[in-house]
Amino acid sequence: MDETILQSIGRTPLVRLNRITQGLSVPIAIKVEANNPGGSVKDRVALAMVREAERLGQLRAGGTIIEATAGNTGVGLAMVAAVRGYRCIFVLPDKMAPEKIALLKGYGAEVVITPTNVPPDAPESYNGVADRLAREIPGAWRPNQFANLANPEIHYRTTGPEIWQQTEGRITAFVSGVGTGGTLSGVARYLKEMNPEIRIIGADPEGSVLSGGTPKSWKVEGIGEDFVPRTFNSQLVDEWIRISDAESFETARQIARQEGMLLGGSTGTNVAAALRYARRLDGPHLIVALGCDTGRNYLSKFYDDRWLADNQLTAKPTIRESIDALL
Ligand code: PMP
Repeated sequence: MDETILQSIGRTPLVRLNRITQGLSVPIAIKVEANNPGGSVKDRVALAMVREAERLGQLRAGGTIIEATAGNTGVGLAMVAAVRGYRCIFVLPDKMAPEKIALLKGYGAEVVITPTNVPPDAPESYNGVADRLAREIPGAWRPNQFANLANPEIHYRTTGPEIWQQTEGRITAFVSGVGTGGTLSGVARYLKEMNPEIRIIGADPEGSVLSGGTPKSWKVEGIGEDFVPRTFNSQLVDEWIRISDAESFETARQIARQEGMLLGGSTGTNVAAALRYARRLDGPHLIVALGCDTGRNYLSKFYDDRWLADNQLTAKPTIRESIDALL
């Protein structure tokens, strides 16, 4: 029996793809981080950042965690805060999906909504408000995942070694997108220490500046940036592969329908990049792509045919679907 739910973070499965890889001679496996209790790779990071803050005395009994995130890190922090008895406040811009806000509140977190249409450095912006709350609330602590080195470190200490052991050292390439870059940097550093020949492939949305593209907006959540975070070591990337929103979403949907794993859009980006890389290879290779989060976060987005069509991200609907839509 586990003492708390936090003990079930990590030790996630590594699952081979069977049907969407048909015709390829090189195997691809997904590291299924969606199987963490909060549904994403970020559970590891949330727990690691809290532990480190406790160790350094930055977070004490009765303290308050304040962060400006609605994403998977928020869910992880809310879960850890619930178990450890901390208060948790998230400051979010008003464009955030209601499901994401409801999810954080479900774990007992407080949510403060700020206006979207203000400059990022304005006091009423989500960062401005989070800064003010952190100054005003005694015992407040801001994890700041983009600069917190406990983030890549936990992947160096857990995710990387798990992948090495689960492949019995046979992994030849690791494919991951970059949000904070914690996952890629930590896993890559460990794997290259074990075998410097392992290729690290950065999977980047079209429009992100990380892979050197022309900046434009994209719809895949959690990866791609318009700046280079402190937690990301770009020197570890051997090659970037750029993937469109349409290809990322289509690939994620195929993983659900052909492999039985309902995962997020950034997993689609990673697997699409892995498939492209694998097409160039033959011989004894083993590619591991990161499965970042659960697809349940996106049922009203790219898993919804109407949403895809409204965002011009899909082929035309079938005649049957067009008739259904009219009825
Ligand atoms: N995919 C999703 C859905 C995420 O939420 C994140 C975290 N931002 C990532 C990928 C990227 O992880 P990392 O921050 O470790 O680069």
